[in-house]
Formats: sequence, structure tokens, C-alpha cells
Amino acid sequence: MGDIKSKRWQELADVKRELAQRDWFYGTSGNLSIKVSDDPITFWVTASGKDKRKESAEDFVLVDAAGEPSEPNQSLKPSAETLLHTYVYQQTKAGCCLHVHTIDNNVISELYGDEGEIRLKGNEIIKALGYWEEDAEVTIPIIENPAHIPHLAEQFRVHVTDGADSGAVLIRNHGITVWGKTALEAKRVLEAYEFLFSYHLKLTLYKMQLVR
Ligand SMILES: [Zn+2]
Repeated sequence: MGDIKSKRWQELADVKRELAQRDWFYGTSGNLSIKVSDDPITFWVTASGKDKRKESAEDFVLVDAAGEPSEPNQSLKPSAETLLHTYVYQQTKAGCCLHVHTIDNNVISELYGDEGEIRLKGNEIIKALGYWEEDAEVTIPIIENPAHIPHLAEQFRVHVTDGADSGAVLIRNHGITVWGKTALEAKRVLEAYEFLFSYHLKLTLYKMQLVR
């Protein structure tokens, strides 16, 4: 295994371990990837149907720009949602893409799904998303969740801004997909959004109780 390949594998394994400690892989859900090379594009992506709280040498599959296994003797199948990751690597300079299903991101996506987006502002952690001005506001698009993955990926693709290094999309009653230039950045973006979702839901509930 080449140096860069094993280095990226380790980075992705580290992220997977940390997200597992947060208990963000309910029922084998979630998928993670990290770019290995640019020309041609190859990336490690989590293998399909595994319990991501467990660790093994078969956790990730190396795939090409189309999400197909790039080495002939791999018996593992890439995650069913790998197609979404391919658009991130094809259209942006991102180096890592993370997707998790959490209760908070699902509730937010359902509450604001009809509006097609959620806007959040007035919180210090927004700086972790790269917005430094006072009262910065972030907007996360919310797309529907068709069962057919290519349909889902087409909706997702619209929000993957060409050339952007980082971003996030919520999928209604399903989860969030984020990407960043590095694994560290992608994880920071994911944690910042999950913080904002949890904060927003708790604050909204408390306000409702005060009004009563
Ligand atoms: Zn999913």
C-alpha cells in the first residue's frame, strides 16, 4: 500500500473512531470518504453495511471518480450512497466528505423541510464554519429524500458549489452530508452544524415552554 494511501486510510479511520465515540452511526447508517489522488480521482469510502463502531482492515474501499472499486481484487462493496461523494470530489476541491444520520439533524430537516433551507445565526460556533463577522448567518439547504439513490444524488449535486472547499446539505428525515478541504475541516464543519442544530432545537423548546 502506497504511503499516501495508508496515510489517508489512517486519517479516515481516526475520524470514523471519533464519530463512533459520539454515537453518530445508528444502525450501520452513515458513510465517510477521503480523497487519495486528484488525477485520476480516487478516494477511500466506507464499505457497505458494516457496523461503523467496529474497526477492521476492511472498513474502506478504494473507488474511482465514478464511485466504482478502483482495484480489481476488492470483494467489498462501497457504501450505497457513494454517488453523493463522487459529486463532491468531481465538483469541488474538497478532500473529505462525511455523512451521518442523527436525531437532531433529522428533526431540523423535518421542521424546516418545506422551506427548503434553515438559517442559523448569532452563535460563536459559526466561526468554526469560517464566518468571522459579527452576527454571521449560515444557510443550509434541505433536499427531499427519494429512495432511488441516483435521484437523491441529482438533487444533492445542485447544492455542491463548483470549486468550493467546504459545504453542507441536509437530506430530509435522513441526515447531513458535509465536506471540507481536509478531514479535520470536514469534521469541524460537521460538529459545528450538529452543535447548532442541537442548540436551536433546545432553545426553541425552552422558549415555547416560557410562552405557555
Ligand atoms: Zn444516509
